[in-house]
Amino acid sequence: MIRKIKRNRPYTPDEAAHLTGVTPVTIRRWRERGLMSIPETRPAIILGCDLIDFVKAQQTPKQHCQPHECYCLKCRAPRAPAFDEVEIIVINVRSGNMRALCCECTTVMHKRIPLAAVDALRSEHGLTVTLRCERITEDT
Ligand SMILES: [Zn+2]
Repeated sequence: MIRKIKRNRPYTPDEAAHLTGVTPVTIRRWRERGLMSIPETRPAIILGCDLIDFVKAQQTPKQHCQPHECYCLKCRAPRAPAFDEVEIIVINVRSGNMRALCCECTTVMHKRIPLAAVDALRSEHGLTVTLRCERITEDT
């Protein structure tokens, strides 16, 4: 999205919204939070270079979870499981859904993991792992 923005071109908020994939309301909020525009222009004129710089500053670096961590949507960060406890709901012979509470805010976190990683969660990270099968299907 950011590649379509030309540094030396002026944009209206609607054009800026279209190019960055956000709504015009978001562009207005960005302007309130520091996105520069040319003073006393209506509609506002935003320079491509200012738009590029602002969008780049908004992008947070990708955060990677350690094997024992899940990404907490509330904290917006990788977090270790509270009480060193995780539950793994077995999906199939190879993988399961790891479920844990965030150690900071106790929000439920989820992560798909290979079942081969379960032993390492116990031995290397000292977690208490409970394996569960939610759907038991019989193949007859
Ligand atoms: Zn959290």
